[in-house]
Amino acid sequence: MYRKLYLIFLLLITACAAPVTPSITTASPQVATSSTSSQQIDLFTENNIVPAAPACDGMLTLSQTEGPYYKTGSPERNSNYQSGMPGKRLLVVGYVLDQNCQPIPSAWLDFWQADANGVYDNTGYTLRGYQYTDAQGRYFLETVFPGEYPGRTQHIHVKVQPPNGNILTSQLYFPNETGNSSDGIFDPSLVVKLEDRGDYFVAYFNFAVQK
Ligand code: FE
Repeated sequence: MYRKLYLIFLLLITACAAPVTPSITTASPQVATSSTSSQQIDLFTENNIVPAAPACDGMLTLSQTEGPYYKTGSPERNSNYQSGMPGKRLLVVGYVLDQNCQPIPSAWLDFWQADANGVYDNTGYTLRGYQYTDAQGRYFLETVFPGEYPGRTQHIHVKVQPPNGNILTSQLYFPNETGNSSDGIFDPSLVVKLEDRGDYFVAYFNFAVQK
């Protein structure tokens, strides 16, 4: 009788203990999985951004004047934004594509622009930086919405170069700016698609360059 009870007791102990073991083994892989996926999150996923699909009309991005304020030697970075900068934060994203509309990984892009007050940093490298497209041919720039300066509507300067290719120098513009119509350099083909997310803008633009 006691032996029977002892066996039942043992069985109960085992049954109660059993669920503890799987919950520990499950927890361990779960941690590993979430750690792996966080490493895979890229800037686009993190910011809930899907660049416009590569779609080309066979036209290459228009070349424009470099202007007087380009400087070599800017730092490599995705973000030219510094906390406390005046102006609304702006993300500029898209693909660099070749003449056949194929994305170009490792293309070089160098951005420079005026701050929200229309002033360029010509002594340092504020709002200047270069980067390379990722394996999917995408670029991602965090910056601020540029200001106007005399004679010019809001714009961002850029140089784009496919690996071993020629450098395209151009500028990006914004829709519905009052200064666009009176700016002699402005071109409607270089206007970004702008999405207002409240605290910040997302600007979409795909470059098409000769590879
Ligand atoms: Fe300029």
